[in-house]
Amino acid sequence: MEKLILLDIDNTLFDSLCYRKKLFEAIAKKITPEKSQEEIEALCQTIYEGHIATTGLFDFKEFTKEFSKKLQRVVKEEDIASLVFDTQILKGCMYPEVKDVLLRMTKVGTVGIVSQGQESMQRAKIKIIEKLLHPDKIYIKANKKEAIDTILKENKDYKIIFIDDWLSLLHHVKQTAKQTIVIWSKRGRHAHGQLPIAGFEPDKIITSLDQALPFIEEI
Ligand SMILES: [Mg+2]
Repeated sequence: MEKLILLDIDNTLFDSLCYRKKLFEAIAKKITPEKSQEEIEALCQTIYEGHIATTGLFDFKEFTKEFSKKLQRVVKEEDIASLVFDTQILKGCMYPEVKDVLLRMTKVGTVGIVSQGQESMQRAKIKIIEKLLHPDKIYIKANKKEAIDTILKENKDYKIIFIDDWLSLLHHVKQTAKQTIVIWSKRGRHAHGQLPIAGFEPDKIITSLDQALPFIEEI
């Protein structure tokens, strides 16, 4: 059976904390030099947290609206967009081992993505590794938990290896498709805040993507 390795983006391939830090720093420096860096970074963080709590994703258009309102002046959407999609910022926040590991994963099976977020944003994050991914196996959804059953069903002829930092999603995957191998990427902001789930253990826990490779090779 051919292996299909499905990877999450944030906190699995991409260091989201690093990204937000660099993005908010750049916003403070380039868009609001009249205010203190700390004040702007804190404001950006508050708006971001609010969006994640209500919609589960970061939308730079909504972010710009709220940012303008809080500053009481118009901030142009394209100015925010140029920083949100800044290639240097994005490139610098991919976890350092990812490119090499993915290249080796392509020798073991088909490699794809299952991610939650805005398509343009998530695509930008994986741009530098996109050519290592199977174009038909890139699933970017507004709500991953709702979409996952269909994705699993669609790929039932593969041996699926599912890697994510979201423990309850791994649990759901295991319940839906028992034969799926689930690997917990235990890093990023949620790594230590997730409560253990009674009766459930991921097949493997990793803190860096290279730790998954020998395990996947042996399956
Ligand atoms: Mg994630």
